[in-house]
Amino acid sequence: MELRITHLSKTYANGVEALKDVTLTIGQGMFGLLGPNGAGKSTLMRIIATLQEPDTGSIHLGELDVLTQKEDVRRVLGYLPQEFGVYPKVSAERLLDHLAVLKGITQKGERKALVEALLTRTNLWEARKKNLGGYSGGMRQRFGIAQALLANPKLIIVDEPTAGLDPAERNRFHNLLAELGEQAVVILSTHIVDDVKELCTDMAIINKGEILMKGHPLEALEALNGQIWRKRLPKEELAAHKAQYHVISDKLISGQPEIHVLSETQPDPSFEAVEPDLEDVYFSHIEARIERRERA
Ligand code: ADP
Repeated sequence: MELRITHLSKTYANGVEALKDVTLTIGQGMFGLLGPNGAGKSTLMRIIATLQEPDTGSIHLGELDVLTQKEDVRRVLGYLPQEFGVYPKVSAERLLDHLAVLKGITQKGERKALVEALLTRTNLWEARKKNLGGYSGGMRQRFGIAQALLANPKLIIVDEPTAGLDPAERNRFHNLLAELGEQAVVILSTHIVDDVKELCTDMAIINKGEILMKGHPLEALEALNGQIWRKRLPKEELAAHKAQYHVISDKLISGQPEIHVLSETQPDPSFEAVEPDLEDVYFSHIEARIERRERA
Protein backbone atom coordinates (compact mmCIF):
# COMPACT_ATOMS: atom_id res chain seq x y z
CA MET A 1 0.00 0.00 0.00
CA GLU A 2 1.26 3.45 -0.92
CA LEU A 3 0.09 6.95 -0.07
CA ARG A 4 0.41 9.38 -2.97
CA ILE A 5 -0.04 13.09 -2.36
CA THR A 6 0.00 15.32 -5.44
CA HIS A 7 0.01 19.11 -5.78
CA LEU A 8 -1.77 19.66 -2.48
CA SER A 9 -2.39 23.28 -1.45
CA LYS A 10 -4.28 24.86 1.41
CA THR A 11 -4.72 28.53 2.30
CA TYR A 12 -6.65 29.44 5.45
CA ALA A 13 -9.30 32.17 5.49
CA ASN A 14 -6.81 34.53 7.19
CA GLY A 15 -4.48 34.24 4.17
CA VAL A 16 -1.91 31.85 5.71
CA GLU A 17 -0.64 29.47 3.02
CA ALA A 18 -0.30 26.36 5.18
CA LEU A 19 0.52 24.02 2.25
CA LYS A 20 2.03 25.04 -1.08
CA ASP A 21 1.90 22.47 -3.87
CA VAL A 22 2.96 19.50 -1.74
CA THR A 23 3.81 16.32 -3.65
CA LEU A 24 4.98 13.22 -1.76
CA THR A 25 4.84 9.46 -2.14
CA ILE A 26 5.00 7.46 1.07
CA GLY A 27 5.44 3.69 1.15
CA GLN A 28 5.03 1.09 3.89
CA GLY A 29 7.13 1.63 7.01
CA MET A 30 7.93 4.60 9.20
CA PHE A 31 7.94 7.96 7.46
CA GLY A 32 9.10 11.04 9.32
CA LEU A 33 7.62 14.43 8.45
CA LEU A 34 9.96 16.88 10.09
CA GLY A 35 9.45 20.62 10.40
CA PRO A 36 9.36 23.49 12.87
CA ASN A 37 6.17 24.70 14.53
CA GLY A 38 3.86 26.32 12.03
CA ALA A 39 5.40 24.44 9.06
CA GLY A 40 2.06 22.95 8.00
CA LYS A 41 2.46 19.44 9.42
CA SER A 42 -0.84 19.27 11.29
CA THR A 43 -2.70 20.73 8.34
CA LEU A 44 -1.26 18.00 6.11
CA MET A 45 -1.98 15.28 8.69
CA ARG A 46 -5.58 16.43 9.15
CA ILE A 47 -6.19 16.49 5.40
CA ILE A 48 -4.77 12.96 5.00
CA ALA A 49 -6.92 11.85 7.95
CA THR A 50 -10.05 13.16 6.11
CA LEU A 51 -10.71 15.79 8.79
CA GLN A 52 -10.06 18.81 6.61
CA GLU A 53 -10.32 19.77 2.92
CA PRO A 54 -7.45 21.06 0.77
CA ASP A 55 -8.04 23.79 -1.83
CA THR A 56 -6.42 21.85 -4.64
CA GLY A 57 -4.58 18.59 -5.20
CA SER A 58 -5.26 14.91 -4.67
CA ILE A 59 -4.39 12.08 -2.28
CA HIS A 60 -4.57 8.36 -2.98
CA LEU A 61 -4.11 5.48 -0.57
CA GLY A 62 -3.58 2.48 -2.82
CA GLU A 63 -6.70 2.49 -4.97
CA LEU A 64 -8.68 4.76 -2.64
CA ASP A 65 -9.25 8.43 -3.41
CA VAL A 66 -8.79 9.93 0.06
CA LEU A 67 -10.62 13.18 -0.72
CA THR A 68 -13.79 11.54 -2.05
CA GLN A 69 -13.87 8.05 -0.46
CA LYS A 70 -13.62 9.32 3.10
CA GLU A 71 -15.63 6.54 4.74
CA ASP A 72 -13.51 3.84 3.12
CA VAL A 73 -10.34 5.62 4.22
CA ARG A 74 -11.57 5.98 7.80
CA ARG A 75 -12.08 2.23 7.98
CA VAL A 76 -8.35 1.62 7.44
CA LEU A 77 -7.05 4.69 9.24
CA GLY A 78 -5.56 5.02 12.69
CA TYR A 79 -5.16 8.65 13.74
CA LEU A 80 -3.36 9.76 16.85
CA PRO A 81 -3.79 13.52 17.12
CA GLN A 82 -1.52 15.96 18.95
CA GLU A 83 -3.95 16.41 21.81
CA PHE A 84 -5.70 13.17 22.44
CA GLY A 85 -8.81 14.27 24.30
CA VAL A 86 -9.77 11.56 26.75
CA TYR A 87 -12.69 11.18 29.08
CA PRO A 88 -11.04 11.56 32.49
CA LYS A 89 -13.60 9.57 34.49
CA VAL A 90 -13.65 6.43 32.37
CA SER A 91 -11.22 3.53 32.59
CA ALA A 92 -9.03 2.58 29.63
CA GLU A 93 -10.74 -0.77 29.35
CA ARG A 94 -14.25 0.69 29.23
CA LEU A 95 -13.43 3.44 26.76
CA LEU A 96 -11.61 1.05 24.44
CA ASP A 97 -14.56 -1.33 24.59
CA HIS A 98 -16.91 1.54 23.79
CA LEU A 99 -14.74 2.72 20.86
CA ALA A 100 -14.67 -0.85 19.56
CA VAL A 101 -18.48 -0.85 19.46
CA LEU A 102 -18.38 2.40 17.48
CA LYS A 103 -15.95 0.77 15.04
CA GLY A 104 -18.58 -1.88 14.43
CA ILE A 105 -17.19 -4.75 16.49
CA THR A 106 -20.52 -5.79 17.97
CA GLN A 107 -19.75 -9.37 18.97
CA LYS A 108 -18.97 -9.30 22.70
CA GLY A 109 -16.43 -12.12 22.88
CA GLU A 110 -14.51 -10.82 19.88
CA ARG A 111 -14.46 -7.34 21.39
CA LYS A 112 -13.22 -8.56 24.77
CA ALA A 113 -10.37 -10.48 23.17
CA LEU A 114 -9.39 -7.50 21.01
CA VAL A 115 -9.47 -5.01 23.89
CA GLU A 116 -7.39 -7.39 25.99
CA ALA A 117 -4.83 -7.87 23.24
CA LEU A 118 -4.48 -4.12 22.64
CA LEU A 119 -4.12 -3.28 26.33
CA THR A 120 -1.43 -5.92 26.68
CA ARG A 121 0.39 -4.80 23.55
CA THR A 122 0.50 -1.18 24.71
CA ASN A 123 1.58 -2.20 28.21
CA LEU A 124 -1.58 -0.86 29.85
CA TRP A 125 -3.04 -4.12 31.10
CA GLU A 126 -2.06 -3.47 34.72
CA ALA A 127 -3.63 0.00 34.56
CA ARG A 128 -6.73 -1.02 32.61
CA LYS A 129 -9.18 -0.29 35.48
CA LYS A 130 -7.66 3.08 36.24
CA ASN A 131 -9.49 6.24 35.11
CA LEU A 132 -7.81 7.93 32.15
CA GLY A 133 -7.65 11.19 34.08
CA GLY A 134 -5.02 9.57 36.31
CA TYR A 135 -2.83 8.45 33.39
CA SER A 136 0.60 9.99 32.78
CA GLY A 137 1.39 11.62 29.43
CA GLY A 138 3.13 8.46 28.22
CA MET A 139 0.24 6.23 29.26
CA ARG A 140 -2.18 8.51 27.45
CA GLN A 141 -0.05 8.28 24.30
CA ARG A 142 -0.03 4.51 24.52
CA PHE A 143 -3.78 4.54 25.02
CA GLY A 144 -3.94 6.67 21.88
CA ILE A 145 -2.04 3.95 20.02
CA ALA A 146 -4.35 1.27 21.40
CA GLN A 147 -7.42 3.11 20.11
CA ALA A 148 -5.71 3.86 16.78
CA LEU A 149 -5.06 0.12 16.39
CA LEU A 150 -8.68 -0.93 16.92
CA ALA A 151 -9.41 -1.20 13.24
CA ASN A 152 -6.17 -2.96 12.23
CA PRO A 153 -5.25 0.12 10.21
CA LYS A 154 -3.29 0.26 6.96
CA LEU A 155 -2.46 3.93 7.45
CA ILE A 156 -1.42 5.32 10.81
CA ILE A 157 -0.92 9.02 11.42
CA VAL A 158 0.86 10.18 14.55
CA ASP A 159 1.04 13.93 15.15
CA GLU A 160 3.82 15.24 17.47
CA PRO A 161 3.81 12.18 19.70
CA THR A 162 6.76 12.46 22.05
CA ALA A 163 6.56 16.06 23.23
CA GLY A 164 6.38 15.87 27.01
CA LEU A 165 7.34 12.20 27.37
CA ASP A 166 10.17 11.17 29.66
CA PRO A 167 13.02 9.16 28.05
CA ALA A 168 11.77 5.75 29.18
CA GLU A 169 8.24 6.43 27.93
CA ARG A 170 9.64 7.77 24.70
CA ASN A 171 11.58 4.54 24.13
CA ARG A 172 8.54 2.42 24.82
CA PHE A 173 6.49 4.52 22.45
CA HIS A 174 9.17 4.30 19.73
CA ASN A 175 9.26 0.52 19.98
CA LEU A 176 5.51 0.34 19.60
CA LEU A 177 5.58 2.60 16.55
CA ALA A 178 8.39 0.62 14.95
CA GLU A 179 6.30 -2.53 15.27
CA LEU A 180 3.39 -0.81 13.56
CA GLY A 181 5.61 0.17 10.66
CA GLU A 182 6.02 -3.47 9.77
CA GLN A 183 2.41 -3.73 8.60
CA ALA A 184 1.26 -0.26 7.65
CA VAL A 185 2.17 3.14 6.30
CA VAL A 186 3.04 5.09 9.44
CA ILE A 187 3.51 8.85 9.23
CA LEU A 188 5.19 10.45 12.17
CA SER A 189 4.87 14.21 12.19
CA THR A 190 7.31 15.92 14.51
CA HIS A 191 9.65 18.85 15.14
CA ILE A 192 12.01 16.57 17.09
CA VAL A 193 14.91 15.49 14.89
CA ASP A 194 15.87 12.59 17.18
CA ASP A 195 12.46 10.95 16.78
CA VAL A 196 13.01 10.74 13.04
CA LYS A 197 16.65 9.73 13.40
CA GLU A 198 15.82 6.77 15.60
CA LEU A 199 12.75 5.49 13.82
CA CYS A 200 12.28 6.43 10.22
CA THR A 201 13.49 4.79 7.04
CA ASP A 202 12.17 7.60 4.90
CA MET A 203 11.58 11.26 5.63
CA ALA A 204 10.71 14.71 4.36
CA ILE A 205 11.45 18.16 5.69
CA ILE A 206 8.67 20.73 5.51
CA ASN A 207 8.82 24.43 6.24
CA LYS A 208 6.33 27.21 5.56
CA GLY A 209 4.10 24.80 3.69
CA GLU A 210 6.80 23.59 1.28
CA ILE A 211 8.61 20.25 1.08
CA LEU A 212 12.32 21.11 1.17
CA MET A 213 13.73 17.59 0.87
CA LYS A 214 12.57 14.00 0.74
CA GLY A 215 14.64 10.88 1.04
CA HIS A 216 16.39 8.32 3.16
CA PRO A 217 17.90 9.83 6.35
CA LEU A 218 21.21 8.02 5.77
CA GLU A 219 21.49 9.28 2.20
CA ALA A 220 20.73 12.79 3.38
CA LEU A 221 23.58 12.45 5.88
CA GLU A 222 25.97 11.20 3.21
CA ALA A 223 25.14 14.14 1.00
CA LEU A 224 26.55 16.44 3.68
CA ASN A 225 29.71 14.43 4.32
CA GLY A 226 32.79 16.63 4.65
CA GLN A 227 30.74 19.83 4.60
CA ILE A 228 29.93 20.37 8.28
CA TRP A 229 32.44 22.31 10.37
CA ARG A 230 32.35 22.98 14.08
CA LYS A 231 33.75 25.74 16.21
CA ARG A 232 33.38 26.78 19.85
CA LEU A 233 33.65 30.49 20.38
CA PRO A 234 33.05 33.25 22.91
CA LYS A 235 29.49 34.62 22.92
CA GLU A 236 30.69 38.03 21.71
CA GLU A 237 31.95 36.54 18.42
CA LEU A 238 28.72 34.81 17.52
CA ALA A 239 27.16 37.65 15.54
CA ALA A 240 30.33 38.26 13.51
CA HIS A 241 30.60 34.56 12.65
CA LYS A 242 26.99 34.48 11.55
CA ALA A 243 27.64 37.40 9.24
CA GLN A 244 30.81 35.85 7.78
CA TYR A 245 29.98 32.13 7.49
CA HIS A 246 27.04 29.98 6.53
CA VAL A 247 26.12 29.11 10.13
CA ILE A 248 23.34 26.51 10.09
CA SER A 249 23.01 26.07 13.85
CA ASP A 250 24.30 27.39 17.12
CA LYS A 251 23.81 25.92 20.53
CA LEU A 252 25.32 26.15 23.97
CA ILE A 253 27.65 23.37 25.08
CA SER A 254 28.34 23.77 28.80
CA GLY A 255 27.38 27.41 28.50
CA GLN A 256 29.62 28.17 25.52
CA PRO A 257 28.28 28.67 21.99
CA GLU A 258 29.14 26.02 19.42
CA ILE A 259 28.35 26.69 15.78
CA HIS A 260 27.98 24.35 12.83
CA VAL A 261 28.92 25.83 9.48
CA LEU A 262 28.04 24.42 6.06
CA SER A 263 30.97 24.75 3.66
CA GLU A 264 32.59 22.62 0.95
CA THR A 265 36.03 23.52 2.27
CA GLN A 266 37.40 24.23 5.73
CA PRO A 267 36.34 27.83 6.44
CA ASP A 268 39.59 28.51 8.34
CA PRO A 269 41.96 26.46 10.53
CA SER A 270 39.98 27.24 13.69
CA PHE A 271 37.14 25.02 12.43
CA GLU A 272 37.17 21.27 12.78
CA ALA A 273 35.35 18.78 10.58
CA VAL A 274 32.47 16.84 12.16
CA GLU A 275 30.38 13.97 10.95
CA PRO A 276 26.98 15.34 9.89
CA ASP A 277 23.98 14.37 11.97
CA LEU A 278 20.33 14.64 11.09
CA GLU A 279 20.07 17.97 12.82
CA ASP A 280 22.61 19.33 10.31
CA VAL A 281 20.48 17.97 7.47
CA TYR A 282 17.44 19.64 8.97
CA PHE A 283 19.04 23.01 9.62
CA SER A 284 20.96 23.10 6.33
CA HIS A 285 17.67 22.81 4.44
CA ILE A 286 15.72 25.22 6.61
CA GLU A 287 18.48 27.83 6.77
CA ALA A 288 19.29 27.55 3.06
CA ARG A 289 15.71 28.42 2.24
CA ILE A 290 15.75 31.43 4.56
CA GLU A 291 18.95 32.70 2.92
CA ARG A 292 17.60 32.29 -0.60
CA ARG A 293 14.54 34.28 0.44
CA GLU A 294 16.60 37.06 1.94
CA ARG A 295 18.72 37.37 -1.19
CA ALA A 296 15.70 37.40 -3.48
P1 ADP B 1 2.49 22.61 12.34
O1 ADP B 1 1.62 21.44 12.63
O2 ADP B 1 3.68 22.27 11.50
O3 ADP B 1 2.86 23.38 13.57
P2 ADP B 1 0.06 23.83 11.25
O4 ADP B 1 -0.44 23.01 10.13
O5 ADP B 1 -0.62 23.69 12.58
O6 ADP B 1 1.65 23.62 11.42
O7 ADP B 1 -0.01 25.37 10.84
C1 ADP B 1 0.51 25.86 9.61
C2 ADP B 1 0.21 27.34 9.51
O8 ADP B 1 -1.21 27.52 9.36
C3 ADP B 1 0.58 28.15 10.74
O9 ADP B 1 1.02 29.42 10.30
C4 ADP B 1 -0.71 28.25 11.52
O10 ADP B 1 -0.73 29.42 12.31
C5 ADP B 1 -1.73 28.31 10.40
N1 ADP B 1 -3.02 27.72 10.81
C6 ADP B 1 -3.24 26.47 11.27
N2 ADP B 1 -4.54 26.23 11.48
C7 ADP B 1 -5.20 27.39 11.14
C8 ADP B 1 -6.56 27.79 11.12
N3 ADP B 1 -7.56 26.96 11.49
N4 ADP B 1 -6.84 29.04 10.70
C9 ADP B 1 -5.86 29.89 10.32
N5 ADP B 1 -4.56 29.56 10.29
C10 ADP B 1 -4.22 28.33 10.70
